[in-house]
Amino acid sequence: MNDDAVGAGVGETSQDGVISRKEALFVAVDRAPVTGRFLLSFDCEGKWGMADDPSVIGQHPISNTSIRWAYELIFKILDQYEVPATFGVVGLFASDYERFRLIDDELGWEGLYEDWFRFPKEAFRERNFEGWFFPDLVNRIRTRGFHEVSSHGLTHLPFQTPLVSEKLVECEMRRMNELMKTKGVTLRTMIYPRNQIAYTDLLPKYGLQGFRECDLQNTAYGSKFAILRDELNLLKRSEAESKRTYPVPIASGIFLNWRHGPRRLIPRRATLQRWNHVLDHAQKSGGVAHLWLHPHNLITARDQADLFERCIEMVAQRVKNKVMTVMTLAEYCTSVSNGTSKSENI
Ligand SMILES: [Zn+2]
Repeated sequence: MNDDAVGAGVGETSQDGVISRKEALFVAVDRAPVTGRFLLSFDCEGKWGMADDPSVIGQHPISNTSIRWAYELIFKILDQYEVPATFGVVGLFASDYERFRLIDDELGWEGLYEDWFRFPKEAFRERNFEGWFFPDLVNRIRTRGFHEVSSHGLTHLPFQTPLVSEKLVECEMRRMNELMKTKGVTLRTMIYPRNQIAYTDLLPKYGLQGFRECDLQNTAYGSKFAILRDELNLLKRSEAESKRTYPVPIASGIFLNWRHGPRRLIPRRATLQRWNHVLDHAQKSGGVAHLWLHPHNLITARDQADLFERCIEMVAQRVKNKVMTVMTLAEYCTSVSNGTSKSENI
């Protein structure tokens, strides 16, 4: 990241008003519009993201109706501001109960899936399918023509679970590719379930160019205190461009504060101010501002949809001013691999 460019400001003249050579260079850099990059990714999983939590069996705010409401609202906002996004879908979520049965017949005997499918199967035995399946999801994502469908795993089984083997990960990747092909999609990027990164060397074999990195400290497994402190860091910066390796490790991104539990303590204006700073930093340094969330976060937290819209509006304004470029994760990986992602203005 070019911190010098960030620090450069117009009017940094010496006391006698004469601009030094170094300062003149900084001013020149500052005047040249440096384009930041914005990435937006969604972890689309319905209840599969919490399949190991017994609370998913009974009454739950995530239902077929609320899920569709949240996704349609997101599509509407992205349409309105013309912002493309990457939707990492769980294969089973984008399918139906019949597909689940086929996969369960094939994999369910394996102990890890026996555990992972335990609560979903209890729900299905009670004929409760609410929040588990969205068979039309991939079509809905593709309707607009500029969004990317990415992989968030076939079953959402986290890959750092003890006993997950390379063979099992390969099996999931192969089945996921086959499933998405039936929907006309060729996957190009990976968003690991629960951000548990594993076996990245396998990705190219399955056509996957890159994966979203993980900011361990700020995952659900990080310290709650550290998370809150980071949410209140109003000087938060964008991330540096990815290393030109293959597969491409994509900036881990910033989780849009889910106004739930202790996170409700974070004032809305703090989240917006922090996001504004991230965008400013990306714009000035050519950095990457990556926002991510679960669409169902809009259901389970108050005013979350409005908070999301305000964040997107801030991006759209910068795109209009030609100081920010929006990319899908796949487009970003291609640009990093080709060495064309840096702005010509840098
Ligand atoms: Zn997930």
